[in-house]
Amino acid sequence: MNIHEYQGKEILRQNGVKVPKGIVAFSPKEAVKAAKELGTEVVVVKAQIHAGGRGKAGGVKIAKSLDEVEQYAKELLGKVLVTHQTGPEGKEIKRLYIEEGSDIKKEYYVSLLVDRATSRVTLMGSEEGGMNIEEVAEETPEKIFTEVVDPIVGLTAFQARRLAFNINIPNNLINKAADLFLGLYKTFIEKDASIVEINPLVVTNGDEVIALDAKFNFDGNSLYRHADVVELRDYDEEDPKEIEASKHDLSYIPLEGSIGCLVNGAGLAMATMDTIGYYGGSPANFLDVGGSATAEKVKEAFKIILSDAHVKGIFVNIFGGIMKCDVIAEGVVAAAGELGLEVPLVVRLEGTNVELGKEILRNSTLNIVAAASLADGAQKIVELVG
Ligand code: GDP
Ligand code: MN
Repeated sequence: MNIHEYQGKEILRQNGVKVPKGIVAFSPKEAVKAAKELGTEVVVVKAQIHAGGRGKAGGVKIAKSLDEVEQYAKELLGKVLVTHQTGPEGKEIKRLYIEEGSDIKKEYYVSLLVDRATSRVTLMGSEEGGMNIEEVAEETPEKIFTEVVDPIVGLTAFQARRLAFNINIPNNLINKAADLFLGLYKTFIEKDASIVEINPLVVTNGDEVIALDAKFNFDGNSLYRHADVVELRDYDEEDPKEIEASKHDLSYIPLEGSIGCLVNGAGLAMATMDTIGYYGGSPANFLDVGGSATAEKVKEAFKIILSDAHVKGIFVNIFGGIMKCDVIAEGVVAAAGELGLEVPLVVRLEGTNVELGKEILRNSTLNIVAAASLADGAQKIVELVG
């Protein structure tokens, strides 16, 4: 789960990490009021969308008067911002963050993430701040430094200082930077984050070390114990299909292809994707109904797949264990009956109550292609989608 920059900065502030003062605004009027309240000579008007690259796309404006604040707020609110992270359709700006201006001397990059190769939390930093870190990794990998954190000991002050040295933080500010890194680490652990990225971290002409941007990503599996984080969820920023899926406790993964997949279990989902790929097709998504879905839940899952315009065909691949094949069949028939089925549907059922399930499908008026095996089903749906 992602949150907005201003929300991330509030979390950092509560954990003692230095961030500029700022106020969120939903209208030009609120923006001007916020700027008045901040009372600084320069304020920054920042578009709040769940994507980076706002600066380059014109979503970050420096205002030197209240008139300018109003003008920028009017310009940005309601505008669709297209950045290298939003995709070509962009994202509509519905919130602004009005922030006191910072007198930047130099920009740095720092982040915490879980490194899958070492299975450890890793602190990463670079003196090439404010840029796309993927580009830095590509062009000047020697300018990226990492500290791998021992899960028992946690990030040590020594490691935090070493990173500050490595990324060339001025000597007199090493301790300030190290304290900030330790604050980031504490926040990362306490909130069960999977990414905290500060790009840029800045050193100011007044010798302060400040987080000027904040990107958070939280581990979805931990949200049950972070009600305060869940509250920050902004549904406007999410795919409606994913919201619908999460309401019904389904795992839904959107992909790029054209075949909708309804499966039970992540392992079977992977095998299904691979087999579709083997026969030359590609999945539009996969929806995992899990091990103990009701017909109602299967129906909701099927509706989500049907509502995706990219789906040119559907492959239902179920291995009934705890999940019963007749329950799946009932859900599929109910959803298709309600919404109509205009794309080819291939169903492969195996396992508990398989005969009952097949009978339900046969007795329906739906045009269903039955498959004898996973390979047979994948081949058939790829052929039908063309
Ligand atoms: P992003 O482009 O979405 O990552 O948005 P950022 O929050 O990182 O802002 C982009 C750039 O705007 C930063 O790298 C800074 O150069 C600039 N910027 C942001 N806030 C300030 C500020 O207070 N003062 C000045 N001078 N520049 C700022
Ligand atoms: Mn940034």
